[in-house]
This record gives sequence, C-alpha cells and structure tokens, in this order.
Amino acid sequence: MSEKTILCGGMVCDGSGAEPVLGELLIEGERIAAIGLPGEFDAVEAAVIDCAGKVIAPGFIDAHSHCEIRKLRYPDSRSKLLQGMTTEVAGNCGESVSCVPGKFEETCWNDLKGYAEILDAASASTNTVALCGHNSIRKAVMGNRDGRPSGDELKAMRHLLEDSFAAGAAGWSTGLTYLPGKFADTAELEFLNATTRGTGKVYATHLRSEGDKLIEAVDEACRIARAGSERLQVSHLKTIYARNFHKIDALLEKIEAERVNGLSLHADRYPYIHSSTYIRQALPPPYNLDPEIAAKLRASAALRDEVTEALKGCPRDLPTTIVARLGKDLTEIAAENGVSVERAAMELIMENPREFVAYRCMSPENLRRIVLNPWVCAGSDGVSMPLDDPTNIGHPRSVGTFPRFFRMVADELGIGEAVRRMTSLPAQIFRIPDRGLIRRGYVADLVVFDPAKFDSQAGFRGEDPMPSGVARVFVAGKQAWSADVPERVGRFGRYIPIF
Ligand SMILES: [Zn+2]
Repeated sequence: MSEKTILCGGMVCDGSGAEPVLGELLIEGERIAAIGLPGEFDAVEAAVIDCAGKVIAPGFIDAHSHCEIRKLRYPDSRSKLLQGMTTEVAGNCGESVSCVPGKFEETCWNDLKGYAEILDAASASTNTVALCGHNSIRKAVMGNRDGRPSGDELKAMRHLLEDSFAAGAAGWSTGLTYLPGKFADTAELEFLNATTRGTGKVYATHLRSEGDKLIEAVDEACRIARAGSERLQVSHLKTIYARNFHKIDALLEKIEAERVNGLSLHADRYPYIHSSTYIRQALPPPYNLDPEIAAKLRASAALRDEVTEALKGCPRDLPTTIVARLGKDLTEIAAENGVSVERAAMELIMENPREFVAYRCMSPENLRRIVLNPWVCAGSDGVSMPLDDPTNIGHPRSVGTFPRFFRMVADELGIGEAVRRMTSLPAQIFRIPDRGLIRRGYVADLVVFDPAKFDSQAGFRGEDPMPSGVARVFVAGKQAWSADVPERVGRFGRYIPIF
C-alpha cells in the first residue's frame, strides 16, 4: 500500500485562476488522491500535516530556466525550492547543453536522452523539462561561422532537433542576440521550426531585438512560429533602453492581434528591471559580431583604444552596470583602476567576454504592464544557487523571481490569478502532463506557503538571498523541503519527457 499524507487546515488554490478555498488534500503515493472539505479525511489513516494559515498550491513551474549544468552541480536547488518551484523548463535562449553537450566538466553524455539518464541518476530536487537550443545545434554543425548554412548543414541541424524531440524535448529555443544564433536568418529558422508542425511543440525565442527593432523582432518570431506548430513563447518580454520604452503600446497591440489571429502566443518575464547577460553584449557593431574579440583585444593596443571609444555610444547604462562576480558596479571598478567606465568594460571583455553583468535597462511601468497580461507567466531566466555563498548569487532573479512575480500579480489581480500564472499557464504552454493544477490523479507537486509573507528582498550584491514565506514543498508526493528542517532537502525531481 502506498504512503498517504493529508494536508489539512489550509486554503486550496488549485492553479485554475480560482481564489483559494478552505479544503484538504489527500496524497497517495505520488499523486493527489482526493480533494475534500475540511475534516473529510478524518477517518483516513495517514500522516497529517497542518497547513493552517497557509495556501496549498500546485508546485510552481519556472518557464525560463538555465539550470542544466547547475542542476548537476547543485542538485539540492535550494534557491528554487524556497521559491516554491517544483519544475523548471531548461534550455532557453538557444543554449541547451542537455541536447548538445558543451565543454563543461560535468558533460559525459551525447544527447538529451543521455542527459536525462544522468539527471535522473543525480536526482535533483526539482523536475526538468527540456528545450533544444538553436545556438547549441548551430554551433555543433557550423561552429561560430557567420552566413547561411548549406543544405547538408540545415539537414544536420534538423536531425539534432528531431532527436531532441524524440527524447521528449518540449520544443526548441533561439537566442538571436547571441553567437552564433544572430547569424541565422528568418528562412533558416522557419525551416527548422517546420519540424514542430503538427507536434504541439513550442518555439521559444529570445528575440533578435528587445529594443531598437523590437516590433520587427516580434513580427519575425510570429512568422517563424507560423511555419511550424503556431505555438510561440517570447522569452523575458521587455522593452530595453529608455529610447524604446514608448514602444510598449505597439508591442502589446501587436501581440494581442497575433493572438486574435490564432497564434498560441505567450511570454515569460522576471520581475526586475535589470537584465543579466554577458559583458560582451555591451559591444556595438561590428565588434559584437566577432567571436574572437577577446583575443584580438589582447593582441592590439590600437583595438583596445578603438573599442573603448566605441563603448561610449553603448545604449546600456555602463556606470550602473553591476559585475555579478565582483559585487561591484563599473563606476567602482573604474575608480579602483583609475580608468574610465568604458575602459573598465573593455578590459572585462578582454579578460572574459562571458563575464556576467547586470544592466539596468528596463522600465518599471512597462514591467508592470507586461506582467499584468493574462498570457504572461513567471520565468526566472536564472540558475540554481547554493544559498550559503552570497558572493555566488548573481542576479537576484535566481532567488527572487517567484515571490516578486507573485506579489506584483496578486496585489492587483488576486492570489488565484497569480498562482495560475506560476502553475497551470506554464504547464499548458509547455504541455507538461498531470501538473500545474490541483486535480484528482495529478502528480502531487505542491507548495504550502503564506501569501502575506511570500517575498524576496534579494539584492544585486548578494544581500538577503533567502526568499521568505514558503513553508513546505512536495515533489511527487514526497516532502522535498520544510521550513521546520530547512537544512534538509529531499531530491525527488526527475526529467519529464513531453510528447
Ligand atoms: Zn535570454
């Protein structure tokens, strides 16, 4: 007989958008066996957990994660559990080492099937859904080369995509501001997305532009989606740089029109106005197109001067840009080294173009307007963090996205709607079976939390990394985390193939 647990005394928020109601859950083995009124399961012999004063909701689903390597490195994923997350969608922004392994020391698989086996053996604390990344497959087939793929190269990329789909990837992703994704034209992406036609698999995209050519980039994404399953997920939807903030009206109108025209279009967003990306993203053209820029900078003093000068035209606000690893902004680093902020940025690019930095480049009002749309779900764009090392936190979105997204939506639209956007909406977008709702027979991935206390004050320099308000997390019916024994993490997550 399988183990039984009763969660009683709390309010059940089922993930459908309905507001929480008094109720109890009976968990049997991995699944929700029954949902009842208070006291209904009194006669059942089971472990009883008192949830008085708390909301019982489906486990939160992170629509936008970059967790593939970190999950093997830090399988406890405490930073995720403390936000109530039980499932993460990995492989976003075109990068998926799960489908095409890169050079990390952990990599000892050849494809998504192999990664899934290794991940299951490592038993991380949260479940994983995979996307296949375009940058990863393009790099595997063509290297970092600019220009069009040959017919054979296109076929080779399509094979890698199809293999990933056969291994249960929920779809695929592009990162069209990154290398080598930015070299791909629309036709290449339409060709590749044709593999999703009739499959229900989703095309997720980090748009080619999130600022100066934002509307054109959304238009391109819609065209690519229509060449395939007509299911589009716009990653971290935003308007970047002050000169583009006014485009919010046109952006939302465009998306509504495409939805009316039958496109299944959704977006995710992290509730911060700083982005987090590589320092090389500050480079203007033509330097941003050069994969070898760091080596060339090291070799040429003239180029160092040239790039320093060019960085003066950078639309990103360099003085307030925070270098995550150092916990300092460029103004501080420049002052310490006695150089200009542009020089300091150039030197960082020269040392490591993939150094993570946080750029303050978004509008708080536009963030609010984006997040309040019913088709926007929460996506951290973050990674798993060992919370005991504050120097290692990086962008606070990795530890604060879910509590802050919840606050923003719940305060204006209610708890039920906030929970829906963190549960059944992403489950529906990525077609994650039997999760995202509290229903009889669904997998018992659950979070028990205090909606009044659910929050995060995490800062950019490692301050207050611990989110507050989550009391317990269950993954597949087992308690993965409890505030009563915060040091103990149960690792019951697994790879969820989507077919
Ligand atoms: Zn991205």
